[in-house]
Amino acid sequence: MGSGNSLLQIIEQNVEHLQDAIARRFRNSGRAVFDDFEFEDLRTFAWSHIDPILQSLRYEDQYLFSFFLDYSSGRNAEKGLPMEDNLFTLGLVSETIWECVVDESHADDLAENLGQLVGIVGKGKDGIAANYMTQRDELLGELRESNAKLMEDTKRKLDFLAKVSHELKTPLTSVIAYSEQLMDSGLPSEIRVEFSKVVHDQSSKLLQLIEDLMELSKFQNDRSRLNLSWADPATVIEEAIGTVQVRARQKEITIETGAMQDLPKTHMDPFRVQQVIWNLLTNGVKYNEPGGTVTVDAKRQGDELMIAVSDDGIGIKPENQEMIFQSFHQTEDALAMLEGGAGLGLDIVRHYLNLHGGRIAVESVYGEGSTFTVYLPIAGPNGAVPDRCEEEGDLVARKQDVEAVELQKEPH
Ligand code: ADP
Repeated sequence: MGSGNSLLQIIEQNVEHLQDAIARRFRNSGRAVFDDFEFEDLRTFAWSHIDPILQSLRYEDQYLFSFFLDYSSGRNAEKGLPMEDNLFTLGLVSETIWECVVDESHADDLAENLGQLVGIVGKGKDGIAANYMTQRDELLGELRESNAKLMEDTKRKLDFLAKVSHELKTPLTSVIAYSEQLMDSGLPSEIRVEFSKVVHDQSSKLLQLIEDLMELSKFQNDRSRLNLSWADPATVIEEAIGTVQVRARQKEITIETGAMQDLPKTHMDPFRVQQVIWNLLTNGVKYNEPGGTVTVDAKRQGDELMIAVSDDGIGIKPENQEMIFQSFHQTEDALAMLEGGAGLGLDIVRHYLNLHGGRIAVESVYGEGSTFTVYLPIAGPNGAVPDRCEEEGDLVARKQDVEAVELQKEPH
C-alpha cells in the first residue's frame, strides 16, 4: 500500500457521494422491493452496506465484513428484503464503488486494496449465499418434517376410522342377528327374554361407544368446555360411586372409601370429574373377579387434590401401562374377560384431566391389582390457590356463577 490514497481513504472521502450514487442505482434497478422506499431510506440502506466495507477495511478483517453484512441483512430482512435482493445489492454496491470513486488512475496504487475489496465483497457474498442456502435447507427440512407428520396423521386417522367401524359393526351385527331371531313368533319365552337382553346390552354398548366418540371428537375440534365451580370432592366421589354401585353388586365387587371429610373444595367441573372417577371405578369393577374390592382414597397433597382408585383385579403388565391411555388400546387379559368397552375410557379421562390442568398415573402389579391416581389442582386449571377456605355462602354464590372455560388442549 505505497500510496497515501488507500481505498479506505477514498471511500471515507466519498461517503456522501457514494451513498447518493448507490441510492440512485437502487432506485433505478427496477427491483420492486425498492419501490416503497423514500430516497432517504435508500441512502440509509446504501450506508448499511458501505459501513461494513469501511469497518473491514479499517480493521483489515474480511470476516468482520461478513459479520457486519449478516447484521445488515438481518435488519434488511426485518424490513422485508429477501436474501437474493441482499446479494444483488451487495454486487451493486461494489460496482458503484468501483465505477464512482475508483478510476483507472488509482488502479496501480490501489491494486492491493482493490484485491482486498474484491476479496471482502466475495467473502460477504459467499457468507450471505451460505446463509441463504442454510436457511433454504432448514426450510426444506421443516417442510419434509411437517409432510411426514401430515402423512402420519392421515395414517392415524385412517387407522382410527377402521377401528371405529369395527367397534360399531360388532355390536350392530349381533343386534341385527338377535332381533331377526326375535321376529320368530315360535321362540320360547325364556329364549326371547335372553335374546332381548343381548339386544339391549349391545345397543347400550353402541350408544356408549357413540357418546365416547362424540366426546373425543369434541376434544379434537377444541370444543370441549369445562363448567368450573368450587365443588366438594367428597360429593363428586360419592355420586360417581352411586352410578357404578349396581354393576358392582351384580358382580359381587365391594366398593370401599377412605376418609373424605377434610377434603378441600376444588375448582373443577364436577360433572367431568365425576365421569373421570366413574370411568376408573367401572374399570376397577370390570377388570376384577367376583369377590374383589375397589377402594377410593382422596386427600390434599400440597396444592393438589389426589384421588386414588385401587382394585385387586387382574392388573396390567408394565409394557402395557402407557398404551392403555390411547384410544382403542386394550390388553389381551381385559379382552379375554369379555367385559365390553372399546378402549376409549382412559383416553377421555386423560383429556378431561388435561383440561383441568391435572394428570393421571397408574401403578399396577400384574395379577394383583392396579391403582389409578388422579391429581387435580385445587385452584382449578390456571388460577391461584385460595388463601382461605371458601365459606359455604361463598360457595353457593360461586356455584351459581358457573363459568365456562375454553382451554387449549394437547394434541390428541
Ligand atoms: P375399556 O375399559 O373400554 O377397554 P379404557 O380406556 O377404560 O377402555 O381402558 C383401556 C384398557 O386398559 C382396558 O381395555 C384394559 O386393558 C386396561 N385397564 C384399564 N383399567 C384397568 C384396571 N383397573 N385393571 C386392569 N386393566 C385395566
